[in-house]
Amino acid sequence: RVTAGIVTEGLTLISEAIEKNATALGDLDAIAGDGDHGIGMTRGSAAAAKAARELFEQGAGAQTVLVGAGDRWSENAGGASGALWGAALTAAGNVLGDTARVDRDRQAQALAALVEAIKRLGGGSVGDKTMLDAMVPFADAFAAAVADGASTAEAWTTAADVAEAAATATADLSPRLGRARVLSDRSVGHPDPGAVSFALAAKTMAGVVQ
Ligand code: ADP
Ligand code: MG
Ligand code: MG
Repeated sequence: RVTAGIVTEGLTLISEAIEKNATALGDLDAIAGDGDHGIGMTRGSAAAAKAARELFEQGAGAQTVLVGAGDRWSENAGGASGALWGAALTAAGNVLGDTARVDRDRQAQALAALVEAIKRLGGGSVGDKTMLDAMVPFADAFAAAVADGASTAEAWTTAADVAEAAATATADLSPRLGRARVLSDRSVGHPDPGAVSFALAAKTMAGVVQ
């Protein structure tokens, strides 16, 4: 089960993991994009984690923490990924509710809402070589694990492994959306930065719910 405290700890550890990998994410974005993915993700996730900690200390529930964190993420990150991450966290938060604990089914619904928010705002779908190519298989794997009776920890671990493999597999794709579309030939053979950073976040969160 997931609580406001776990959401807050997750966002804090995600921001640390992103910061540690910022150079690598920026280098990946520089291949066919503008090289700012590490900087943007670091700014956005740090601001989101700070907002989450403040709200949690004030006694906020999971919904309020995640919605507040999402607002702060998009305000601070800049770039396509910042707006998308902010909207995604807000959409997920609105499904969670502020009750003390969030069960696995509700988590699966929140992850589906996260994916839908990104599709709606960005207009993308699987195969466009974006973060969605890691997020969609992740959310599907999470829902399938829950339906199979997996625990919260097992579902997160299984889904995070799927996200990591899916992010790696984006190397074969050619970008059809976002900045990298213009220099799409250069991108082939390298994974999508947004998919890689999402997989890193999922892996980090999976560690928190253990
Ligand atoms: P920008 O492209 O504005 O510099 P970032 O470098 O931070 O923003 O993020 C780039 C990432 O954002 C891409 O690798 C891709 O995963 C994701 N992205 C860009 N546009 C979209 C979109 N329309 N839908 C989903 N993801 C997108
Ligand atoms: Mg960029
Ligand atoms: Mg940019």
